[in-house]
Amino acid sequence: MARYIGPVCRLCRNENQKLFLKGNRCNSPKCAVSKRPYGAGQHGQSRKKLSEYAIHLKEKQKVRRTYLVLEKQFARYFNEAERKKGVTGTILLQLLESRFDNILFQAGFSAGRKQARQLIRHRHFVINGRVVDIPSYRLKAGDEIAVRANSVKLLKEIIEDTAASAEPKWMSIDKSGLKIKVDSLPERADLDPNIKEQLIIEYYSK
Ligand code: SF4
Repeated sequence: MARYIGPVCRLCRNENQKLFLKGNRCNSPKCAVSKRPYGAGQHGQSRKKLSEYAIHLKEKQKVRRTYLVLEKQFARYFNEAERKKGVTGTILLQLLESRFDNILFQAGFSAGRKQARQLIRHRHFVINGRVVDIPSYRLKAGDEIAVRANSVKLLKEIIEDTAASAEPKWMSIDKSGLKIKVDSLPERADLDPNIKEQLIIEYYSK
């Protein structure tokens, strides 16, 4: 499967925001955004006025990169959100948040979404008792993730090494029992306030 293989810290620096693409390093003083809080490259420190289109594009790229989703796949999420009843921007974010890799990361079962993906592909988890190795698998309210017996030691080590962050309200997390239950889909208030989904809608409305 195609994936971005360029320098990821550059993506965060260009957004001037942490996208948490490098696991534990992202929460350490070594994070490139903390060390150099300006755009990457020769012209990174120059302030240029962005066109409306560039502002919309930038927001879309930021969210797409945060969830490690490729262009086509992101457009598919948007189309699906648009077809559903409700607020398109919130539905789009709910679709992205309910991805298997994102849930593991948000629950503190991996240091980043990239590591979550690798763990999923290596078949360390079951959802509702069945092995799932698809990072984009979408969970729904009531679904339960558990760790396979042979992977308990590995997961305990990863959880111990992963910096604790605020636990999302929309899932029940049992780190000692290595279980996650999705209680409901997140409300907009539960999600990143820095995301301006309206700009993404405007990007796709052109
Ligand atoms: Fe982004 Fe993480 Fe690199 Fe910091 S360390 S710039 S958050 S990828």
